[in-house]
Amino acid sequence: MTTPLIDLHDVSREYGDGPPALDGVSFSVRAGEAVAVLGPSGSGKSTLLSLIAGLDRPNTGTVTVAGVRVDRLGEAASARYRRAAVGMVFQFFNLLDDLTVADNVALPAQLAGTDRAEASRRAVELLGKLGVDGYARAYPGRLSGGERQRVAVARALVNRPALLLADEPTGALDTASGEDVGALLSELNADGQTLVVVTHDLALARSCTTRTISLVDGRVAEDVTAGPAR
Ligand code: ADP
Repeated sequence: MTTPLIDLHDVSREYGDGPPALDGVSFSVRAGEAVAVLGPSGSGKSTLLSLIAGLDRPNTGTVTVAGVRVDRLGEAASARYRRAAVGMVFQFFNLLDDLTVADNVALPAQLAGTDRAEASRRAVELLGKLGVDGYARAYPGRLSGGERQRVAVARALVNRPALLLADEPTGALDTASGEDVGALLSELNADGQTLVVVTHDLALARSCTTRTISLVDGRVAEDVTAGPAR
């Protein structure tokens, strides 16, 4: 069996005196899988994403991504890991309003050391692939929510990350735009992109993932991989 891309082993995360946000979570994700993380508000979904992204550390347990012990990285190494290996997509897009669409997408590549011309070339190519290249020179404020999320996905992919993490990517979109983002994520996964999508949106989970991990009170309550008939 090949080494998993993500491996969480007995991970717990506590904040202060409250009940643990995550409590003994273990699972692995293979490269190329598309996983939805479901669960009620407060069940630990965002905490889980933060740990995988190296933005937070567990109190106990290990988090390994692409062979790297993410839970052991110092601040600089953690930032480098995120830039190189992880793309993130958020509910409210988090685009920079005073940069053009193309510059938003090129920025993480430049921060990772790619020269400006190559970063711009890659940005325009990705925007084309995602069907929003007509807006390359526009500012994000002119775009609809669905278009902004496409741009945010392009930005997340610019450093060709092993892993794409999405936190409620359709949470701020109307139904049609949400379906559009689901179709886009599904296409990316069909091309081999590994996805972990935190969502309340069951239609999104169905459209772009084939495995659902359900969290309840910081524990994995269910981990179901869909059969071929799905
Ligand atoms: P979800 O994303 O499923 O809504 P979270 O991971 O945000 O769940 O939160 C899980 C639990 O951890 C909640 O009880 C929340 O209040 C708590 N929590 C999350 N982040 C923090 C924090 N920075 N400080 C204190 N408690 C936190």
